[in-house]
Amino acid sequence: MFCEICKKKITQRRHLFNIFKRSTHHICELCYQKYPLLPRRSTIPIGGGVLIWNSLIQTSDEISSLAHMSFYKPYIIDYILNYNSNILILADHFDYKMMEIYDNLKLGDIYLITLYDKIKQKEINYEI
Ligand SMILES: [Zn+2]
Repeated sequence: MFCEICKKKITQRRHLFNIFKRSTHHICELCYQKYPLLPRRSTIPIGGGVLIWNSLIQTSDEISSLAHMSFYKPYIIDYILNYNSNILILADHFDYKMMEIYDNLKLGDIYLITLYDKIKQKEINYEI
């Protein structure tokens, strides 16, 4: 398996306890240190409900989203166990334009999972 960011081969040490375990991550250790997982949850009131926004990586760099796709799993489980009446939306990026669209559509409660965070000056725009 190759890293989706630097395209180098990912090697994993095999021992007795992980010999049959499949590797699902598409990112090497060096790239993971460069783009670490910094999860953040924000609750934003929108028209018709609440937007629960889970952002995984706090960078605005253009990197391959395939590298971090395997980190969605705990959020999907959280959605199924706790927020299954909301609408689930998975997206790579979230910005002001998308927030205005969700606000105007009035879909109800939304559970949004994004990989990358492109919003700057969050405190100013979240005020009502
Ligand atoms: Zn890499």
